[in-house]
Amino acid sequence: MVFEKHPTESPSFSYDGQKVEQVAQFKCLGLTFDASKGALYAPDDLIVAGTRACNALRRRCAEMHIQDPLQQCKLFDALVKPILSCGCEVWGLSSKAGEKAEMLHKSFLRSILRVPKTTSGVLVLAEFGRYPLQISWWQHALKFHNRMVKLYETKLQHRLLPHAGLTSVMHMHEGKTWCSKLGEWLSQLPSQGSELGCSTIMKESVDVRSAMEAAKQQYVEQQLQSTSLSSIVRKYSSVKEAYQYEGYLTAVRNSRLRVQLSNFRLGNHKLQIQTARWIKDPVLAQNHKTCRLCNIAEEDEDHVLLHCPCYNNVRRKFPDVCLNRSCKDLLANADQLRVAKYVAACLAARDSMLSKL
Ligand SMILES: [Zn+2]
Repeated sequence: MVFEKHPTESPSFSYDGQKVEQVAQFKCLGLTFDASKGALYAPDDLIVAGTRACNALRRRCAEMHIQDPLQQCKLFDALVKPILSCGCEVWGLSSKAGEKAEMLHKSFLRSILRVPKTTSGVLVLAEFGRYPLQISWWQHALKFHNRMVKLYETKLQHRLLPHAGLTSVMHMHEGKTWCSKLGEWLSQLPSQGSELGCSTIMKESVDVRSAMEAAKQQYVEQQLQSTSLSSIVRKYSSVKEAYQYEGYLTAVRNSRLRVQLSNFRLGNHKLQIQTARWIKDPVLAQNHKTCRLCNIAEEDEDHVLLHCPCYNNVRRKFPDVCLNRSCKDLLANADQLRVAKYVAACLAARDSMLSKL
């Protein structure tokens, strides 16, 4: 078999009197390699199998009445993620190669939360305390690298490496080798030192745990703590206690209440602060933000849950929840079911009061 981009333009090969087949694609150990895209074709191929597995998982969860989001995430990690990550040691260093797999991952999480497709993927991941698949692919690559370094010390590798030249065999796109990409990524992590050259990185093992901790910390800082974030993400960050799985997802078993709380936390509600985002004129948008019930302040999450006098009747029914003086403390209340009920009661009271205006 000859791996050839344009088989018709190439001379034919024969071996032992038999014509050697020329192909534009071939499959090896479950990964499809393409003459044009090389190893980067693999994730496109995997996404078909991953989508099938994900749909089967959703179906099976529905049949078996598995509703706990944490359990569904564990099943995704056990049954779908390994398919999407097959061979990621080779292709996973490219940030674009796994985009579709990441979209599938986020779409699965959105379906659990039952939030619209437009909901920010960063917030959806944060709600589960999860990280993009790309981070786990880097981890696989680092472990693969360490195995290679160990192998380098053996006799066999001493014979093989100079000839095969791992650095050139694992050639990536953008004119960079696998090793230089790995070194470049490691060097941009906080506390991981200066850029590691191709020759250096192949001789030294990398501390995978500290590299992954740094990568996760960097992800959270860039996505949730940066100063140039959208107002929805800034608001979400201000109420998020720590980057971890939100307890209400499991604690609130009533799916209607859970879905309502998820949507409220992720900014999918009809408060004036949210609907004003659709108004292009800045003056009109600013006026639109005012609470239509009390007309004294902007109607945002804090205003509805804590300050608007029109909800005092609701607050009297939830004195335990309303003890908190900040939205962050209120949403972090130990009794998450009461929080979900309080948010649902406020939104129902809002709809009722607005319908009478
Ligand atoms: Zn108000």
